[in-house]
Amino acid sequence: MKGIWLLLLLVAAAKAERVFVGDQVVRVNVQSEEHIQLLQTLEAKQEWEFERCEDVPYFPQHSLHCHNRQPSGLDSPHNLISVLILKMKSGIVVYLACHIQELLEKEKAEMKENQMKERSTKSFNFGAYHTLETIYSFMDTLVAQHPNLVTKEKIGSPMRTGPCMCSSTGGINRPAIWIDTGIHSREWVSQATGVWTANKIATDYGNDDSLTSILNTMDIYMLILANPDGYVYTHTNDRMWRKTRSKISGSICRGVDPNRNWDAGFGGPGASSNPCSDSYHGPSAHSEIEVKNVVDLIKKHGNFKSFISVHAYSQLLMYPYGYTCSDVPHQPELDSVGRAAAQKLTSLYGTSYKVGSICKIIYQASGGSIDWSYKVGIKYSFAFELRDTGRYGFILPANQIIPTASETWLALKHIMEHVRDHPY
Ligand SMILES: [Zn+2]
Repeated sequence: MKGIWLLLLLVAAAKAERVFVGDQVVRVNVQSEEHIQLLQTLEAKQEWEFERCEDVPYFPQHSLHCHNRQPSGLDSPHNLISVLILKMKSGIVVYLACHIQELLEKEKAEMKENQMKERSTKSFNFGAYHTLETIYSFMDTLVAQHPNLVTKEKIGSPMRTGPCMCSSTGGINRPAIWIDTGIHSREWVSQATGVWTANKIATDYGNDDSLTSILNTMDIYMLILANPDGYVYTHTNDRMWRKTRSKISGSICRGVDPNRNWDAGFGGPGASSNPCSDSYHGPSAHSEIEVKNVVDLIKKHGNFKSFISVHAYSQLLMYPYGYTCSDVPHQPELDSVGRAAAQKLTSLYGTSYKVGSICKIIYQASGGSIDWSYKVGIKYSFAFELRDTGRYGFILPANQIIPTASETWLALKHIMEHVRDHPY
């Protein structure tokens, strides 16, 4: 009998998918300290939460996205907007960016349709979002198609970090470039861009002179699902899940922000000590197996020249530091490489990007991955925030995957070319 009950409970738990009916994303132009205080009060009441484009703290003259967690029973979806307009008398600009549930339903329907199509045509659609299993089987196919170039490496044990794709044309421990996508699980265009990029690297080798010359001297490591448990959870339970899924002793909340968990200003400003927060830094630096496995791999390898972490959204290309607003010693070089890379990106479809240090262009954030990589001596450390700027936010329509990945590729390639030409 006990077994049967347990089974039923498991089924019930698996079905408890978070819905977002009535939730909306609004954009607020914050103009004064008074506005900040009001936003903080509203958030403290837990009536709504702030996406803040990756937890942007409140500061004046800055527009931010607020995810209104509509409490059941609250009537109008425009309620939040009216409250804000009433309370923030002067200079406030608030507008509706999207209704989350509508976007999610559309996204789900598109995924289902695509799954059926892929099954019947036995093909892989790079312009669609995929589950973890499909991405893993895509990796196997890529390895099978390019056995002399692409290998799949298991990172750490257990498999919690997922396999890493390595493109190499030979040699041992050659200078290498690291690219990770999806460390924040809900940023789906990041993982999808990783998939497209891995395929691009494999198919362009031997056809594109620049990439060929990069791979003739360097290796490229790609970790497409940097937070696999979180990614699965965004498919099964909560599309807006950002963190890992680890259990926190003494708390009912789960998960650590894997981009606040690195040993670089760990526990400082821009990270939370509250396990229920989306930016919880975790009990200690590298407490998350997803982070520790990468740290171990990078250290053991010892010859990474570039570390690139891909997030979404906001359209930014950033370099260290995040934990302090002081300039890194290589600031002029990183800034000029970043600007040239962003220019290449923009040249394809006109998508505009801001370039700068994390601390200066978005917010102070401690314990981030690229601060750690820079700290351990990987000079060319960059982080992308891909499309968009908040119109769809994390629920970027799948028809933007290939354009996003294609434009991002131009920037990635520029950085890799610079790394190739500047061995140090
Ligand atoms: Zn992120």
